Amino acid sequence: MRIDVLTLFPELIEPALHAGVLGRAVNNGLMSVSLVNPRDFATDRHRTVDDAPYGGGAGMVMKCEPLCAAVESLIEKNSLRHVVLLTPRGRRLDQALVREMAVWQDMVLICARYEGVDERVSEMLVSDEISIGDYVLSGGETAALVVVEAVSRMLPGVVGNWESVETDSFYDGLLGPPQYTRPPVFRGAAVPEVLLNGDHAAIARFRRREALRVTRTRRPDLLANLDEEMLKRLADTGRKTGIPEEENEP
Ligand code: SAM
Repeated sequence: MRIDVLTLFPELIEPALHAGVLGRAVNNGLMSVSLVNPRDFATDRHRTVDDAPYGGGAGMVMKCEPLCAAVESLIEKNSLRHVVLLTPRGRRLDQALVREMAVWQDMVLICARYEGVDERVSEMLVSDEISIGDYVLSGGETAALVVVEAVSRMLPGVVGNWESVETDSFYDGLLGPPQYTRPPVFRGAAVPEVLLNGDHAAIARFRRREALRVTRTRRPDLLANLDEEMLKRLADTGRKTGIPEEENEP
């Protein structure tokens, strides 16, 4: 997968591309992430990327020309299909959307600053508008990193053991079960006995039950989204679903 991030602050994103799971994905060529500065596409002497809003009011607005020139140069170079604007008014990111995006071959993520971008950029070039939640950040860079990290985990080979993806929260619609590690007893609190006895079927049942219990307690709204068949499947057989091969873009 190829991701181009349009940002006035590449230095906010760059270090994250070299650390942890995401760093490995980039280093191993499972995903390429390029940072493009719209300022490089401004044509005036001061390399201006923003201007005052028509109609007056607070703040500045990102101008059409540099942003459109930057996006169009990427489209031309890489025949991109998905141009994403990060904006509070966009579709709220959740695991279902992350999985939709994980089969895209490419995307440009536009990080805005100031009061946002001139509406005409959105009308002319943007295919998707995405928000990472109902709050306002000072810029789209952290939102872009959230998208890149979440999508990267869905790509084959990025997380070393696929089972850890399958048992993550939201993968099959539930929150993840509680986890424990050594020591078996800490300040009088013992690890549940079933996790210590090596009975893998019993451990799987325990974790499934716990995932359902935690979801029911913390996020009952998630259970409302599961259909009857899914609930029965979870209760009976375990937590298995994946992105089918045929959903991948050619
Ligand atoms: N005036 C804008 C509004 O009310 O929607 C907010 C602008 S915000 C200060 C600057 C930029 O940060 C946004 O244009 C967007 O690119 C990014 N941003 C802020 N909050 C975001 C969110 N919840 N999700 C995605 N991007 C966000």
